[in-house]
Amino acid sequence: MPHDLPKAYEPAAIEARWAEYWVKENLFAVPTPDKDDKRPVFSILLPPPNVTGRLHMGHMLNQTQMDIITRWHRMRGYIALWLPGTDHAGIATQMMVEKQLASEGKKRRDLGREKFIERVWEWKKQYGSAITDQMRRLGASVDWSREYFTMDENLSRAVREVFVRLYEQGLIYRGKYIVNWCPRCETAISDLEVKHEEVPGKLWEIRYPVIGTNEFITVATTRPETMLGDTAVAVNERDERYTHLHGKKVMLPLMNREIPIITDELAQPEFGTGAVKVTPAHDPNDFEAGLRANLPVIEVMDEHAQMNQNAGRFAGMDRYTARKEVLENLREQGFLVGEKDYTVALGKCDRCGTVVEPRLSMQWFIKIQPLADRAIEVVENDYIRIIPANYRTIYLNWMKNIHDWCISRQLWWGHRIPAWHCACGKIIVSRETPTKCHKCGGSELKQDPDVLDTWFSSGLLPFTALGWPEPTRDLEVFYPTSLLITGFDILFFWVARMIMLGCWFMAPPQKPGTGNEHVGAGAIARPGAQGAPAQLSEHDLRNSVPYREVYIHALVRDAERQKMSKTKGNVLDPIQVIEKYGTDATRFTLAAMSSPGTDIAFNESRTEGYRAFANKIWNAARFMFMNVDRIGSWGAEPALSERPAGGSRMGTPTREASSELRPDRTECARSHTGIAGFQSATLEDRWILSRFNSVTREVNEALPAYRFDEAANAIYDFFWGEFCDWYIELIKPRLTQGSPDAKTTCANLVALFESSLRLLHPVMPFITDEIWHAIYDGNPPQKSLALAAYPQADEKQIDKAAETHMAILQDLIVSVRNLRAELKVETKAKVPVEVFAPDADIQALIEQNRGALERLANVDELRFAASSLEKLSNVRHTARFDVRLLYEQKIDVAAEREKIKKEFEKAEKELANGERQLGNEQFIAKAPGPVVDKLRARVEELRILIEKLRKKLDELG
Ligand SMILES: [Zn+2]
Ligand SMILES: [Zn+2]
Repeated sequence: MPHDLPKAYEPAAIEARWAEYWVKENLFAVPTPDKDDKRPVFSILLPPPNVTGRLHMGHMLNQTQMDIITRWHRMRGYIALWLPGTDHAGIATQMMVEKQLASEGKKRRDLGREKFIERVWEWKKQYGSAITDQMRRLGASVDWSREYFTMDENLSRAVREVFVRLYEQGLIYRGKYIVNWCPRCETAISDLEVKHEEVPGKLWEIRYPVIGTNEFITVATTRPETMLGDTAVAVNERDERYTHLHGKKVMLPLMNREIPIITDELAQPEFGTGAVKVTPAHDPNDFEAGLRANLPVIEVMDEHAQMNQNAGRFAGMDRYTARKEVLENLREQGFLVGEKDYTVALGKCDRCGTVVEPRLSMQWFIKIQPLADRAIEVVENDYIRIIPANYRTIYLNWMKNIHDWCISRQLWWGHRIPAWHCACGKIIVSRETPTKCHKCGGSELKQDPDVLDTWFSSGLLPFTALGWPEPTRDLEVFYPTSLLITGFDILFFWVARMIMLGCWFMAPPQKPGTGNEHVGAGAIARPGAQGAPAQLSEHDLRNSVPYREVYIHALVRDAERQKMSKTKGNVLDPIQVIEKYGTDATRFTLAAMSSPGTDIAFNESRTEGYRAFANKIWNAARFMFMNVDRIGSWGAEPALSERPAGGSRMGTPTREASSELRPDRTECARSHTGIAGFQSATLEDRWILSRFNSVTREVNEALPAYRFDEAANAIYDFFWGEFCDWYIELIKPRLTQGSPDAKTTCANLVALFESSLRLLHPVMPFITDEIWHAIYDGNPPQKSLALAAYPQADEKQIDKAAETHMAILQDLIVSVRNLRAELKVETKAKVPVEVFAPDADIQALIEQNRGALERLANVDELRFAASSLEKLSNVRHTARFDVRLLYEQKIDVAAEREKIKKEFEKAEKELANGERQLGNEQFIAKAPGPVVDKLRARVEELRILIEKLRKKLDELG
């Protein structure tokens, strides 16, 4: 028996083997389907991790969910493409290499741009696949043959194409703008990349002398060094304190520069003195005010946040030294009139933690409104569904208040902007490197030094990764993709940009504009004016979206619901969790805890529990194989149809057992197509078949609704609770020698097990493939369970009567077990029981299954009472029967009363709850029919039970 499972379940060994096998066999590669392939399509893009990344719990959750959905579709016959890749991650990667250089005592400028980029590529070659290697351990069923990198040649060409087209459409401009500037990274960073932190700081009050008077105007600031660049003082038009100063000038202290007093809404009379200094070069609001009043712009700091020559005697100082010096000087000269404690919201660079400085610089922008308009329309029309729905609102609010997107970054690593500057001032934007200026004919053209924001290229991936701008078959088949699963943190960075860019470029072609020679916001024309279709048809818009659905997953927190952070030291490394409990158990934990709208408080004890679940399945499989081998060695057994009626009283076999049931497990299993080969003969057979189909239905309904928790829990309860704990126990006597249907029972067991493995596979792919291969003795019908068919519920097999009957039987067995425990009956001692069941059918049911009761509750005799057992002790009451343990023990009336009282109270509470739910119209409208029916039946039962217990309490006095 070469394929026997080892005694102990060792996930590490199993998982490493399968992870390697799936990749080596290329099982998840999806060749471009040809025209006559009519299978349905499921496509999903992996949010590309940064090449610098390491797998964290968020990735693990994200990828587990994607893998479950993708495997599920694949098993249901879809062409299932999960497209992986990595992002070049501009700033992050550049910083990694800069750090490496620093350890050699070098800076990137020492190498020069070209050499530095070579170094980054080397770094990428050496370390860039760490994260995808980790993904392989998770069993992610991606198509590795299609793996891309955002700096690949074809993707870079697509990026250039997009930039040039947007430019030609008049949607890209260059402008001086106040941007968030990181002096360490020496680049502009977007609002989204700035982390705000509240810190204690100071508010300084400075008075400026008004020229030609004895008066002063007092202004307040948290950044006094910027006063060196003030070009006005603003007061509010309405503020009567300053009416008499309108039109006058102040003398800027330390600089001895005259600057005007202007009126502007920037100054709020309610706030402070009502007067504010205006520094257009160093504050975004002042910049706007400066534009309104046509003020000069004086920069006093450079790109390193050092004071420049415009800062007079402070030139060359860094911003904090300058702050000290400025304050010192102001104090000495009597201009500093106040200093207050003040909470400052400091903006810090998300990457390096340096305090950002608002800085005026020349940047490239996308005129975003036309793109945003479409991105709003597709979501408002539900061409893209965002789940959970609250993120739809957040998305729409953001999109409706969007600002132009600053797409240039002052980095070396990234997609360089395809624009060339000529000495004559002409800028040439082109797909290919130009050789001549079309204005002056000059040939000394310098490419713009900036690169594009990383999110620019990743925002294009849904179509560029499928071959755009070529009209590929892949685009035809896989675009729009079916689904995106991602975290809230990149909803604006990435999700929103993909929607804007996808809807713009994947709608029918825009006629190119006239080209935009001038740059700057003023020169932008709406694309509608340039011959693009003013209105897209519903069909075109619907099919331009990058994906049909977006599922935003929760955050993974620690067991105490704290956010994981390096500073708190509570970051869980998924690889360590996997090493401890196995990937299957870790995946199962994340799935079972993924309830919508709630963050996951990751608790290792849950993972430990799911490792035990895997272990349970393992042991059940070993039990099954032992029986297959044992029973297989016996001779032939008569076919069911030839057998006396007794054995199959409860059901008609669905198919004749035949010589197909051969004495080895391969044949035993292969003779069935999964559950279809299951032949139900007894109550437990009909019950488990019914339960299997119910659970299958539940899982197949839960997954498309992203209820990973419901799917996982349903499978767990079925596989462990019903299949392993009840069904296997119930059929054990039928597997013994001499049992007339041992082979059928064994074949049933295999068929059911095989189908249950299919059901579980998307969540626990490793252990299921391992056991599945063992069932087929290493010679399975497909190369992997991942390629086998997923179970579909057969409604005809859902047998309510069998489920009700089995519930009564289970109730009886559990009641006896509980009574035994309460009375402290020795485990091995057999005890007689007496049952009162007023309904003749129920009495017959118990009678027919007395064997199960005897075995599973250790009962040696079953008697039926003619009348109620209410007056007796050692009794458990239920709505359908009373059961009494015939066991001598002194009765403690008080204790008995206390016990009954507790039962009574519990039942009343449950009844009240049930009645309340049934009275809730919303619940009735929303809950599935079977759930409501079940609740109604339970309420009925509880009413009977409460009546019984009330009588009993009366009798006990
Ligand atoms: Zn930085
Ligand atoms: Zn020129």
